Amino acid sequence: MTGYRGRFAPTPSGALHFGSLIAALGSFLDARHAGGEWLLRIEDLDPPRCPPGAADTILHQLEAFGLHWDGPVYYQHDRGPAYAWALEQLVAQGLAYPCSCSRQQWRDHAIYPGWCRTRPCEPDKPLAWRLRSDLGLNPVVWHDRLFGEQHFAPTELGDVVLKRKDGLWAYQLAVTVDDAAQGISDVVRGHDLLDNTPWQRQLQHALGLPEPRYLHLPLIVNASGQKLSKQNLAPALPVADAAVRPLLYQALVALDQKPPVTLRLGTVQEQLAWAIRHWQPQRIRRQAQRRE
Ligand code: GLU
Repeated sequence: MTGYRGRFAPTPSGALHFGSLIAALGSFLDARHAGGEWLLRIEDLDPPRCPPGAADTILHQLEAFGLHWDGPVYYQHDRGPAYAWALEQLVAQGLAYPCSCSRQQWRDHAIYPGWCRTRPCEPDKPLAWRLRSDLGLNPVVWHDRLFGEQHFAPTELGDVVLKRKDGLWAYQLAVTVDDAAQGISDVVRGHDLLDNTPWQRQLQHALGLPEPRYLHLPLIVNASGQKLSKQNLAPALPVADAAVRPLLYQALVALDQKPPVTLRLGTVQEQLAWAIRHWQPQRIRRQAQRRE
């Protein structure tokens, strides 16, 4: 055992597409090359956004691509008590506060201006909980394994929501608590989440949690420059072997791993065995976005 533990953490809002394959494959190869573990966490915090069956489809797709995870699948829907405990710690330190403002009210500002910091503007309205991004760890500085030194000042962060007005837990708090609970040493994911990392670093600092290493991968976008998603009709990953093989090869090319052409016709196992042995994240071109 190397102490390396990675994870793939999809939101089951639909089936996986080529963009999610890059994140899954990149984190899988990074973990396996290091001789580490690779865990799967289903981020089903928002039931209305997660159609029934989507999580099972994701599991099935990962298996078809030979991306086998270690241990049981971890689901966020039953983690409420852990998130509530974390929020209590933040409140006790004066780092979280209830907020009644609506997006509409602060629409002329780039980030939420913090109006409810000392007391909610309208305490009788439904309240969300926000993080005091101006207190605690500031500025937020860390080293991304691909994008290098990162530096975020509090004035550009804004007080992110930790718990929504409808009572649902928000991504930043859940992902931070669960990365720690699962003992994740390395987070490998799309570049679209790089600018979410400062809040996660602030939360780790406030809650006394370990800091994972981060590697953000170029985000795959479509011809109009949009992130692939169900909304813009990105095709779901296939599960039939004949369709999986060329797509896996294409994903290795997109990760700049320069697989030999002969591998294109190889089995899923052969492609992955080659890719694990030859994984070199330093080969990935440092681009925030990459055309499909
Ligand atoms: N659940 C997030 C998503 O699907 C990813 C979370 C993460 O990797 O930190 O976009």
